[in-house]
Amino acid sequence: MNVVIIGNGITGVTAALRLRERRPDCNITIVSGESTYHYSRPALMYLYMGHMTWADTKPYEDDFWKRQRLDLVRGWVTGVDVSGRRITLHGGGSLAYDKLLIATGSKSNKFGWPGQDLPGVQGFYDLMDLRLLHENTVRAEHAVIVGGGLIGIELAEMLHSRNLHVTFLVREKYYWNNILPSEESKMICRIIRAAGMDLRLSTNLKEIVDDGTGRVTGVVTDTGDRIDCQLVGLTPGVSPNIDLVKDSPIATGRGVLVDLSLRTNVPDIFAAGDCAEIVTPDGERNLIQQVWYTGKAQGRVVGDVLAGDEREYEPGIWYNSAKFLDLEYQTYGFVSNEPREGERHLWWEHPDHGHGIRIVHDGRKVTGFNLMGIRYRHEVCERWIREERPIEYVLDRLAEANFDPELYRRHESKIVPALRAQIARAAT
Ligand SMILES: Cc1cc2nc3c(=O)[nH]c(=O)nc-3n(C[C@H](O)[C@H](O)[C@H](O)COP(=O)(O)OP(=O)(O)OC[C@H]3O[C@@H](n4cnc5c(N)ncnc54)[C@H](O)[C@@H]3O)c2cc1C
Repeated sequence: MNVVIIGNGITGVTAALRLRERRPDCNITIVSGESTYHYSRPALMYLYMGHMTWADTKPYEDDFWKRQRLDLVRGWVTGVDVSGRRITLHGGGSLAYDKLLIATGSKSNKFGWPGQDLPGVQGFYDLMDLRLLHENTVRAEHAVIVGGGLIGIELAEMLHSRNLHVTFLVREKYYWNNILPSEESKMICRIIRAAGMDLRLSTNLKEIVDDGTGRVTGVVTDTGDRIDCQLVGLTPGVSPNIDLVKDSPIATGRGVLVDLSLRTNVPDIFAAGDCAEIVTPDGERNLIQQVWYTGKAQGRVVGDVLAGDEREYEPGIWYNSAKFLDLEYQTYGFVSNEPREGERHLWWEHPDHGHGIRIVHDGRKVTGFNLMGIRYRHEVCERWIREERPIEYVLDRLAEANFDPELYRRHESKIVPALRAQIARAAT
């Protein structure tokens, strides 16, 4: 059996390794346009800042793939010939498959802004963007970042670390306030400003201005401001990268449509990771998950399914973590930016604005946690949510979840009474 996997990101390589474990006999080929060898995409920022080398970003030695009998093909796939069971490659050539996995990840959003394709304007997703960023920062003194998500703040931190003056345009009232409640968002706004960046909230990009020679020289915002700059980072989110299946019978929505076993509508073609849109059997909103651990989890499942097993992906309890400059963030379960019906949000924040915790419950059970500048154990929070523990149970044991390093100040003796007082106030 010939299995071809398009994409050597975490999803594609996890699937390949799982399939190799299960089916030592089959031929597996991994195709990627970006790099021959798999590397860690979240490490891109550390490569730019000089904290890691290229070798550090690769979890496997280069000869590992040969030892695993995984063939690596470097090239861009331009299309899928479903009836001929072949994929076509840019520059000619094609590869035959018996089973095909599409694991092509995401691509940066662009919203048709005037000037968005000028030299000096770029997104930040892959190694090509990293190379471009090195070139674009050589002579730049002032950068404007557009879009206040996780990649936007990474890019802002990276450029700030090279002493560029950074202006950060955020459409929302506070940073990432479409996802985070206002208190958490405000904490992050404070640290962005404390670092010396020019954060402009409730501000949209209107156009990117050309210097007359075809290079960026500034931006104009919808508040009427003109900001001079030599570099514009466009980071208004990502979308599933599904270009290569556009002209094929493979069904797409926002991503490649798949069932819980990650099968597309075409027999023997599968999709997983950032590019997949899982059609939920209960008809609720389809699932697109665009983080590292979900790519890995879906890769494992689809590896088994490619090997011939009946398996379904179980999304489980959501978690994520990030670092906003020096402020660590973890989230477990479901925490919306505004309380949903029947939901109660309890929030404690240290007067230094560098530590905060939110616990969400519905009166009967705890459903989510946000941690800002405090570390809580994943397995403990997840267990409390899974076991549907009441808020009182969790507050009685809150300190058990803390895993801040030794000698860090712990805050549970302040947090627990403060949250209990909020519960009592809400009850009166
Ligand atoms: C800068 C940045 C930082 C991030 N940080 C974090 C983080 O800290 N934590 C976290 O959980 N997530 C993070 N993410 C998200 C995470 O990296 C992705 O969710 C994850 O990489 C998705 O894995 P994937 O294998 O599905 O896709 P990808 O990693 O995008 O891999 C897809 C691969 O497919 C290849 N490909 C695409 N189209 C074609 C084609 N037509 N032909 C050939 N090859 C093709 C690409 O070259 C690429 O190598 C970050 C993302 C970015 C961009």
